[in-house]
Amino acid sequence: MLDADFFRRWMTATAASVDREAERLTALDSPIGDADHGSNLQRGFTAVTATLEKEAPDTPGAVLTLAGRVLISTVGGASGPLYGTLLRRTGKALGDAAEVSEERFAAALREGVDAVMALGGAAPGDKTMIDSLVPALDALGDGFAAARAAAEEGAVATTPLQARKGRASYLGERSIGHQDPGATSASLLVAGLVEAAGE
Ligand code: ADP
Ligand code: MG
Repeated sequence: MLDADFFRRWMTATAASVDREAERLTALDSPIGDADHGSNLQRGFTAVTATLEKEAPDTPGAVLTLAGRVLISTVGGASGPLYGTLLRRTGKALGDAAEVSEERFAAALREGVDAVMALGGAAPGDKTMIDSLVPALDALGDGFAAARAAAEEGAVATTPLQARKGRASYLGERSIGHQDPGATSASLLVAGLVEAAGE
């Protein structure tokens, strides 16, 4: 079972890897964006960990809805509302249970990813974070490590795609040949689950 501590560790682990990879995320956002993805997420996840420490929400749902709210209010750029919606909707779907099963978490995360697709209008293949999140969801039944591998593969597989959503889509065919920054950061988020589980 996954408790509030697990979800706090998930956010802390993600914040740490976003910190480590911030320069790379921003470098990926240079050729097909505006070179702010790393700094956007760094600001957001730093605020998330600080707020979680201060407010110490005590259910899985409350941890994720708070984290989502903080991302929405601190991250400028498209990715803030999208990641914020992902976490908020996932948290909402978890309700006020003190502990949730991995199956229940997987179902909640699917609601979260659906909400991101509804908000941003992106589908798989559009060269966005969705291309990492959907394969991760599909692999989640085989465990967190399988989801991480699928997310990383999904991020790499955005390279030959032409962007159809977000800033990169303005480049048309020139977006081809670059890995999507948001799909890359989404794979860090999924990798955080493995760390939180101590696997
Ligand atoms: P901005 O593009 O506003 O500068 P960021 O650089 O922080 O925002 O984030 C860019 C990432 O956001 C992209 O690499 C992509 O993965 C993701 N993204 C952008 N638009 C969408 C969308 N409509 N749906 C899903 N993801 C999106
Ligand atoms: Mg950007």
